[in-house]
Amino acid sequence: MATLKAVRGTRDLLPPETALWNRIEATARAVFARYNFGEIRTPVFEETSLFARGVGEETDIVSKEMYTWEDRARAASEKTQSLTLRPENTAGVVRAYIEHQLGETGQLQKLYYIGPQFRRERPQKGRYRQFYQIGAEVIGPPSAGSESPLRDAEVLEMLATLLDELGITGWTLELNSVGSSADRGRYNQALREALAPVVSQMCPDCQRRAVTNPLRVLDCKVPEDQPIIDALPRIADHLDQESERHFAAVTAALDAAYVPYRRNHRLVRGLDYYTRTTFEFTHGGLGAQNALLGGGRYDGLSEAIGGPKAPGIGFAMGEDRLALTLLAQEAAKAPLADAYVAPLGETMNAAALQLARELRHLGLWVELGEGSFRLKKSFEAADKTARQMVILGEDELQSGMLTVKNFSTGMQTKVPRAELAGFLSQPDC
Ligand code: AMP
Repeated sequence: MATLKAVRGTRDLLPPETALWNRIEATARAVFARYNFGEIRTPVFEETSLFARGVGEETDIVSKEMYTWEDRARAASEKTQSLTLRPENTAGVVRAYIEHQLGETGQLQKLYYIGPQFRRERPQKGRYRQFYQIGAEVIGPPSAGSESPLRDAEVLEMLATLLDELGITGWTLELNSVGSSADRGRYNQALREALAPVVSQMCPDCQRRAVTNPLRVLDCKVPEDQPIIDALPRIADHLDQESERHFAAVTAALDAAYVPYRRNHRLVRGLDYYTRTTFEFTHGGLGAQNALLGGGRYDGLSEAIGGPKAPGIGFAMGEDRLALTLLAQEAAKAPLADAYVAPLGETMNAAALQLARELRHLGLWVELGEGSFRLKKSFEAADKTARQMVILGEDELQSGMLTVKNFSTGMQTKVPRAELAGFLSQPDC
């Protein structure tokens, strides 16, 4: 019988990597709390039409990557409906904002989420079919200041802080403005005209995009097309005054907060409800899938899915890619337990459990060994799992003086039992 494996594009996360994931999530939660964000948890599946409208029918996500099924009615009172595993979380958050009339509070809603998303993409390093996003949205009625460029700058400054606190070094913030939907209309026209004489020299995808959605030509990665794309008109030259003022205010606030950024004229989003600021944080260590996170303003999204006017800005970071980056940086070596308690002989097992319990109750991270192991085997096991080993034999039990071996210094010390927890919790020097 063929052995069963995790489905292509999905994977198990195992210790010690899960400790890194927990640290990433704990750091994100702590940073979000300092910026006054609260957590939202939306369902993992939603009605398909939410994503068709909220992500966009013509995007790759909706047109070919969604896990969608007909959910059969179980009772006469139910309808068979088309459901989809969420491919992203912004649409669900905005749906919840509308459903719970959060705009009625008159306050800005600052919401964050952490959870799995699903896309039927071609799996490769850093790209999975079940992946995890940590994201946040700032959304509210215009009277709450939701359109202000200060909100954009605050989100970007928060992201810079979060990446720094995670220990991710060498990130780049790429920033652009896609203007209003009228700006994009004019820009699309300019792109069509500029593409007409050159498009026949471009890749088949670009030839198609030039007709269906010229903005997407800017996403092309085919090396031969790059000189042509670099010479195309820039959206920056098609922004109206309001959009220009908004962008200038965002960059001025970023400068004041010492957040470095780089203008990337090719960073555009093709859907009408995306407005003004778009951004990505990239990292050189990730290879082809170099985006750690992406986001932008979506002033028209709520209305696109049937809600009130609720301008907003948000982002989604790929948790898988944060973990990959940290692993590659070795900033995240598998953490070790404080102590490994090694009973000397099976008769010491019960006393060792009692000692481990004492230490654990005092907050130490302790692994409990096994008395039937020879001392050499205990040493080897302890060296792999803990910074220090506590040896507990008959003599130690009687005298109350325990032997502690520190693996990084190599020192062996006799410590009175009453002082053991304090001794073990000292960091290695
Ligand atoms: P998006 O929702 O497409 O704007 O993606 C936001 C972020 O999620 C990206 O910058 C990636 O870090 C991450 N991401 C998107 N798709 C995947 C995937 N298939 N596998 C892993 N991470 C992904």
